[in-house]
Amino acid sequence: YWSRNKDLRLDDNTALSYASAVAQDLHLPLVVLHIFSLGDYKSHDRSPRRIDFQLRQLAYLQKELAKLDIPLFTITHEGNRKEVPALVCDKLDEWRATGLYANIEYEVDELRRDTEILERTKKARETGKGWQGQVELMRDFCIVAPGQVLTKQGKPYSVYSPYQRSWLAEINSHLADYMHKQNGPVVANASSVRDHAVLGPMFAHEIPTSLAGFELEGGDDEAARMRKLWPVGEGVVDGIMRRFLRTKMQPAKFFEAPLESEGNEVDDPKKKSKIGEYCEGRNRVDWDGTSHISPYLAAGLISPRECIRQAFKLAGGKELPGGRDTGIGMWVQEIAWRDFYQAVLVAWPRVCMSRPYNLKYDGTVDWAEDAGGEKLKAWKEGRTGFPIVDAAMRSLKEQGYMHNRCRMIVASFLSKDLLIDWREGEKFFMQSLIDGDLGSNNGGWQWSASTGCDPQPYFRIFNPASQSEKVDPEGEYIRHWVPELRKLKGKTIHDPAAKLTKKQILDMGYVMPIVDHAKARTTAIEKYKEAAARA
Ligand code: FAD
Repeated sequence: YWSRNKDLRLDDNTALSYASAVAQDLHLPLVVLHIFSLGDYKSHDRSPRRIDFQLRQLAYLQKELAKLDIPLFTITHEGNRKEVPALVCDKLDEWRATGLYANIEYEVDELRRDTEILERTKKARETGKGWQGQVELMRDFCIVAPGQVLTKQGKPYSVYSPYQRSWLAEINSHLADYMHKQNGPVVANASSVRDHAVLGPMFAHEIPTSLAGFELEGGDDEAARMRKLWPVGEGVVDGIMRRFLRTKMQPAKFFEAPLESEGNEVDDPKKKSKIGEYCEGRNRVDWDGTSHISPYLAAGLISPRECIRQAFKLAGGKELPGGRDTGIGMWVQEIAWRDFYQAVLVAWPRVCMSRPYNLKYDGTVDWAEDAGGEKLKAWKEGRTGFPIVDAAMRSLKEQGYMHNRCRMIVASFLSKDLLIDWREGEKFFMQSLIDGDLGSNNGGWQWSASTGCDPQPYFRIFNPASQSEKVDPEGEYIRHWVPELRKLKGKTIHDPAAKLTKKQILDMGYVMPIVDHAKARTTAIEKYKEAAARA
């Protein structure tokens, strides 16, 4: 079984479960292989935080697999990423493996890599040279796989709402299949595998604790912080789901360590737990109203099927709810966004290659000049003079995570207020997020920049101050992340420059706004209109 970057778990893992069953049938040992392809990580802007998370989880999995006498072996490949298929086939040949089982990664480069493996083995079978085993690639990352639901015309959906309705109908019409775990548990190897000449020594293999070129910028301090914020290991994902499904929202208590803010269990979780109150909770950045499961879903420490199974169980009806009128239904809709964006990147692979979904904006937008990259730098560092933007960007820097509403606000700010190419933001997010995932990140950025599938219309531009009042009415989120503004009272915290003098702002240690929102809004609308006319 070839473990990928997005399926780092033993439970409900399609290819792993299948490989285990095949190994049992054939009375052959199961081996788990994981490749660190540094060329891929570099080219895909993989964040050191996500890599650190992956390494920690692999070390945990290695121990769990060893209990089943299954070795987990990793290879760090520093060369050209196009060499990975040859590397894998050679390794399998050396191990005299009979089969290779892996979950599909839907991004373009990964599909090309897997196609190359299929072609190599086909050629090997024809020529009798090279590894000739069986290759099975399986669908696992989504609940409803890309291409599984299509429009009446048999085309992929480019609008979310009808997609979500079909997605939900597909699940509800095969409810038993979706709600009953299809993937069996991983079965132990014979313990004699430990005496095997090639496989035995693999049990002593050590998972690296960091990868060259991807060390955490903040060294040991950052490593400790990440471990505390985003732990891995026994019971962690169960704990996160329980907190979200069974306990109460904790207003403004969770900023330091979102997964540690333990609320009381509630008697009627369907209504009063975090998921029960998700309709309002998800829109407040000062409330602990969302699950914080995204790093675990992105790297596959929990399967998305398990998420909806738990939601279904809590809802307690005959169907999986997916409407906007209950917290559970609303949360299920958010999980559907994840599948939607995967389906988009399969249907329109150009989005994986830094091109917009909407071809009207392909090379036509006249992005602003940013002399010396000063504005981009200020955005990255949380020094734009717009408190909600700065708070959000500082939370990203500290935690590798940002609330969804804030992701929308800072993405709109970069692409519309600063008129900086959204790809700069997409890249920076991938380099900083612990939950960075091409589909959701690209989808979110293209939504915000109005270039994507079913995006925010180009003329709807978030006003950072009024957004701030909506999502953080008391300013608690801002006060936490931008301590310079801690003493400000009332609405001033959302837009200090509207009430205070330059001197007052600078004396607090804060900065003046780097752009005039009203003017920037007019310019952005003009530029988007011009781009469309140019197309
Ligand atoms: P919850 O509200 O509890 O939602 C549960 C799960 O549903 C999430 O963990 C996630 O897997 C999925 N989900 C929720 N909202 C979305 C969405 N809009 N799009 C796709 N999936 C969603 N999400 C990522 O996982 N990785 C990214 O790299 C990423 N980049 C983003 C960039 C931008 C500009 C925007 C606007 C959104 C991005 N998102 C990304 C989506 C969303 O912001 C995060 O999934 C969410 O904030 C994670 O927090 P949570 O787990 O508490 O979410």
